[in-house]
Amino acid sequence: MDAEKRGLFTKAGAVGLSAFAGYTPTVMADSAAKTLFKVATTTIPIVGSHKVFPVRRIYCIGRNYAAHALEMGSDPTREPPFFFQKPTDAIQLVPVGQTVHHPYPPLTKNYHHEIELVAALAKGGRNIPVDKALECVYGYAIGLDMTRRDLQRAMGDQKKPWEIGKSFDQSAPIGPIHPVEKFGHFKEGAIWLKVNGVIKQEANLAQMIWSVAEQISQLSAAFELMPGDIIYAGTPENVGPVVKGDTMEGHIDGLPNITLKVI
Ligand code: MN
Repeated sequence: MDAEKRGLFTKAGAVGLSAFAGYTPTVMADSAAKTLFKVATTTIPIVGSHKVFPVRRIYCIGRNYAAHALEMGSDPTREPPFFFQKPTDAIQLVPVGQTVHHPYPPLTKNYHHEIELVAALAKGGRNIPVDKALECVYGYAIGLDMTRRDLQRAMGDQKKPWEIGKSFDQSAPIGPIHPVEKFGHFKEGAIWLKVNGVIKQEANLAQMIWSVAEQISQLSAAFELMPGDIIYAGTPENVGPVVKGDTMEGHIDGLPNITLKVI
C-alpha cells in the first residue's frame, strides 16, 4: 500500500465507514457487472441427446470395494468408505469409439488406473434417505479416477491432504452419460479395466460396499447435493501403474467401453 492510499484509509477511518458508501459495495452488488474473463463450464455429453450435462462438483468415494480397501491397507469391516473431491475441470471427455490421448501427469513415478462407475445427479438435497436417493440420479457413465499413487501415499504418510495425488488436471476421464430413463440404474454387472489388452481390474458393481443410493445418502449428510454433482463410485481391487505408451480400455456392462492411450 503506498503512502497516498494509507492516507486515504486513515482519513476514511477518521470520518467513519460511510466514507466508503457508494464505492466498494455498489460494485459488488451490481449483477450487471461484466466478468473480468470467461471461465469455461465443464459439460459431459448425454447419449441420444443434443443436450449436455453441466458439472457442478465431482465427488469420489474411496475404498468402496472390500478387496481394494484391503490392498490399500485398511480393514473394510472396521473403516467405512469415505469421500474426496476433484476439481470440475479435471474431467477429460472420452467419446465412444475413439482412443483419446491421456497425458502422463507431472511429478509422479507411479501413476495408477482406477476404473469406476459414475453417477450423475439431476436433483440434490440434504439428508436424503437411501430409499429416495436414486431419484436424484439422472444417468450413469464409465470413468477413471486417475491417481498419482506415490504422491497420494507420501501425503497420507505425513497426514497431509491428498489433493496432489488425486485432484490434478485431467485426472477424471469419463465417457458419455447414459440417462436412467433409457438405460436404467446400474446396480450389478461386470466392471473391468484392461491395459494393453490384458485384464488388470475385474469385479462386479454388486460388490460395492456402499451402493450408489447409500453413497448419495451418506454424501448428503455431509454436503447439500445439487443438480450437476457427479459421484465416482469407487474402484475395485488390483489398481496398478500405467506408463507412456500404454492403452487403457475400461468396461462396465451396459455402457460402451472407453479407450485412452497414455502419452
Ligand atoms: Mn477411486
